[in-house]
Amino acid sequence: MTQEKEFPIVNLISMPENPLKTIYAACRTCYSADYPINIWENATDNEKMLKLVKRVLASGHHSTIEHCQYVFTISGVSRACTHQLVRHRHMSFSQKSQRYVTEKGLFEYITPNTIKKAGFEAEYDEFMNKTAEFYEKMINQGIPAEDARFVLPNAATSSLVASLNLREFIHLANIRLCTNAQHEIRIMVKKMCDLAIEKDSWLAEYLVPKCEALGHCDEIRGCGRKPQKI
Ligand SMILES: Cc1cc2nc3c(=O)[nH]c(=O)nc-3n(C[C@H](O)[C@H](O)[C@H](O)COP(=O)(O)OP(=O)(O)OC[C@H]3O[C@@H](n4cnc5c(N)ncnc54)[C@H](O)[C@@H]3O)c2cc1C
Repeated sequence: MTQEKEFPIVNLISMPENPLKTIYAACRTCYSADYPINIWENATDNEKMLKLVKRVLASGHHSTIEHCQYVFTISGVSRACTHQLVRHRHMSFSQKSQRYVTEKGLFEYITPNTIKKAGFEAEYDEFMNKTAEFYEKMINQGIPAEDARFVLPNAATSSLVASLNLREFIHLANIRLCTNAQHEIRIMVKKMCDLAIEKDSWLAEYLVPKCEALGHCDEIRGCGRKPQKI
């Protein structure tokens, strides 16, 4: 099975009604004698809110953005990709189980472009077909899916509901939008960022690769987007 054009499939299914106002209320609560509910109800000036939020973020008072939670559905990504995503300890996940969901016929899988360009696609597809046949043979012989799955490759796709707060979201963007991150997770995180920015354009300044936030590249091998720090 070849990679679908729109893969990975990413959707933003839940987020705060007003992230800026939420963060503003959190920030002002720290420095105001007023009740938070009054701060929330009286907050109407977007420009004023954004000014304060930017100042507080620049000062490193980042717990204030932890109140904004984003929930995504993600499909059509390889297990190689999801394995990287689940390393993020401040994210929450519900992932399709290879124990409880038995693959039927040829499983869905990702073919990286490098493999296609090198002319290995037919051989790669043959490998996947053989793997699927062997998997099915084992299932038919009574091997439980939790054991038969041992032959499924990193290329097999998975689905998740993944959620994270804005602080973790910015961290995820900073390290996974970097050109040194693996291509599939980069594309997936870019889609996540674009969906959030579509809702709140001010986030475009924060959901960026780390070099944009730092003003320089701290990688050993940079891509040239920003000067390396010597
Ligand atoms: C380009 C790239 C290559 C990679 N290569 C490898 C590899 O070869 N092998 C490998 O094993 N992993 C690899 N990783 C994964 C990497 O080591 C991290 O596990 C992953 O990126 C999650 O990042 P994190 O720990 O910063 O973020 P999160 O888990 O999302 O945590 C966010 C932040 O919270 C803080 N934090 C979280 N937990 C703790 C804690 N227990 N103690 C103190 N502070 C904490 C840290 O400041 C952390 O940056 C790679 C990642 C990238 C981007």
